[in-house]
Amino acid sequence: MKRMMPVLSSQSDTAVQECPSPGKLVVLTGPSGVGKGTLLRSLLERHPEIYYSVSATTRSPRPGEIDGKDYYFINRSQFEQLIAAGKFLEWAEFAGNYYGTPREPVMDQIRAGKVVVLEIELQGARQIRRSFPSALSIFILPPSFQELEKRIRSRGQDSQEAIAHRLQRAREEIKAANEFDIQIVNDDLETALNSIEAVVFS
Ligand code: ADP
Ligand code: 5GP
Repeated sequence: MKRMMPVLSSQSDTAVQECPSPGKLVVLTGPSGVGKGTLLRSLLERHPEIYYSVSATTRSPRPGEIDGKDYYFINRSQFEQLIAAGKFLEWAEFAGNYYGTPREPVMDQIRAGKVVVLEIELQGARQIRRSFPSALSIFILPPSFQELEKRIRSRGQDSQEAIAHRLQRAREEIKAANEFDIQIVNDDLETALNSIEAVVFS
């Protein structure tokens, strides 16, 4: 996994910064399969004024995913060049692929007064908490681990190997829930959505 490590470490390129005003930075995190994407899609339908940050990834597109809408799909060498050029607000390696948040559009949108939501995994969420202590951080929990496993499997878009990897990682990630400002259990979708809406717009 470390074979092509770029010059920067994801853990060390973060200095504490103020979030630009007048907007708001919101980090949504939680284990893979917990329903972050589903919740975010519904939140954006209700609030089209929210800016969703499209990440870059080296993962292959899943059926139906669109480049530039779901992710910017790039290769490892392109990703590593962007890391070295400081173009990511945060980045992490997850299940064998890189994922990162493009810095400039997020900063621009916060300056323009928008609520900006990042939907990212644990390492990246920790980096944002360190760099931007004033960001609002939300951790989404499953009602149970069994239900999480069911959701990952029923999504039906990952290989058996990828599913096993994600489940193993999920067990670790859930332990970190208390590091975040707010914990929300995604049992009933509508109830979880209302809770997110309440904290984002409080
Ligand atoms: P994530 O983005 O966290 O990886 P997804 O949004 O892809 O998770 O959701 C994983 C699966 O769980 C999807 O099939 C989705 O429809 C389902 N799901 C999401 N939220 C709920 C919920 N509250 N109850 C039941 N199934 C859900
Ligand atoms: P997936 O491959 O299922 O789309 O995403 C895998 C994990 O990567 C999810 O937990 C998702 O939230 C996270 N992720 C997506 N984009 C980013 C990003 O820009 N940075 C980080 N750190 N994680 C991301």
